[in-house]
Amino acid sequence: MAVTLSSDEIARYARHIILPEIGGFGQLRLRQSHVAVIGAGGIGSPALQYLAGAGFGHITVIDDDHVDASNLHRQTLFSGDEVGAAKAECAVAALHRINPHVAARAVVERIDMDNAARLLEGADVVIDGSDNFLTRLAVADACLAQRIPLVSSAVSRFEGQVAVFRGWESDKPCYRCFVGNDPARDGLTCAEEGVLGPVTGVLGSMAALEAIRAVAPFGDDTAGTLLLVDLLALRFRTLRLPKDPGCPSCSGGASSRAA
Ligand SMILES: [Zn+2]
Repeated sequence: MAVTLSSDEIARYARHIILPEIGGFGQLRLRQSHVAVIGAGGIGSPALQYLAGAGFGHITVIDDDHVDASNLHRQTLFSGDEVGAAKAECAVAALHRINPHVAARAVVERIDMDNAARLLEGADVVIDGSDNFLTRLAVADACLAQRIPLVSSAVSRFEGQVAVFRGWESDKPCYRCFVGNDPARDGLTCAEEGVLGPVTGVLGSMAALEAIRAVAPFGDDTAGTLLLVDLLALRFRTLRLPKDPGCPSCSGGASSRAA
């Protein structure tokens, strides 16, 4: 049976559908797609708003933390009366208010090497907006093994970055090609360094844009391109990330990992 959009959905997504690069076909692809978002924080919060608005059929929000008063200046999904509640559950409630056509699910668990493969299974694209390096490695390894495009984004103070990884492809880097393997690399968090609220809005919105591009392709293929944003200087620039021929994760192909 052919899947079609209802009249309510056509009205809701009219400004997408009118874009030749998206159209009805792209909108259907979005509805049939599942995005998993790691971290309902500064990146995840604005990203999730646009993912729900865009009409992803399934959204999984993975976060084991609770809403804190110090989150509210940048995590715009939450309100003051939700302080102390589980972020993933508050986020899912907000997504249903934004778009009742979306099936959103909260996972109040910390994602790690032991559960990442299970929690991300079935996702068509993953956004990682988490705030620690070990989590990012666990998510990246699971995405590589399951061949799920990974949109990785991070912010600090007035700066941020976003990149898409499909390391199972012969000419595309994986996340470990980019960052290496040293677990001591863990950077400082927003709690330690501070961050200007709208900086997370810029990078979270970019992450949502790349997640949409990953399932309903438009424009250039951005996998392997790193966007660096410096908002003290109001400067955006991109770098091509090379595939590391010595990378233990993706060199020689993902098949060696999956065996
Ligand atoms: Zn690699």
